[in-house]
Amino acid sequence: MDCVFCQIVSGNIPSDILYQDEEVIAFRDINTEAPTHVLIIPKKHIASLNTLSAAELPVIGRMVSVASDLAKKEGIADRGYRLVFNCGEEGGQLVTHLHMHLIGGRKLSDALG
Ligand code: AMP
Ligand code: ZN
Repeated sequence: MDCVFCQIVSGNIPSDILYQDEEVIAFRDINTEAPTHVLIIPKKHIASLNTLSAAELPVIGRMVSVASDLAKKEGIADRGYRLVFNCGEEGGQLVTHLHMHLIGGRKLSDALG
């Protein structure tokens, strides 16, 4: 398995882990776009939103819940933040393991793309 995020889940690649449970893990993005830039991912390898099955859908709710808790812990909840899923080539997805970006800590661009 050469998936970089699976290797973060297994501990083979070190990362700055902020939260984990049996289903999801959250760690700081290595190439930060903002003062807070965290990735929240399912521990199970799911390639993208395109391959997410109906049975796997609840993990999205877990990811959003973890992101919302982390936004509070990072002190950015009241100021505001953005949650982003990139999907596929034109969506800018570089790592093909489902992930959600939590970005905040500065005024974000008004443009979405
Ligand atoms: P995306 O473009 O949505 O696929 O985003 C992938 C993100 O993963 C990028 O923001 C990268 O900076 C981040 N990333 C890649 N490798 C690592 C790593 N080893 N640790 C933390 N973040 C990573
Ligand atoms: Zn993976």
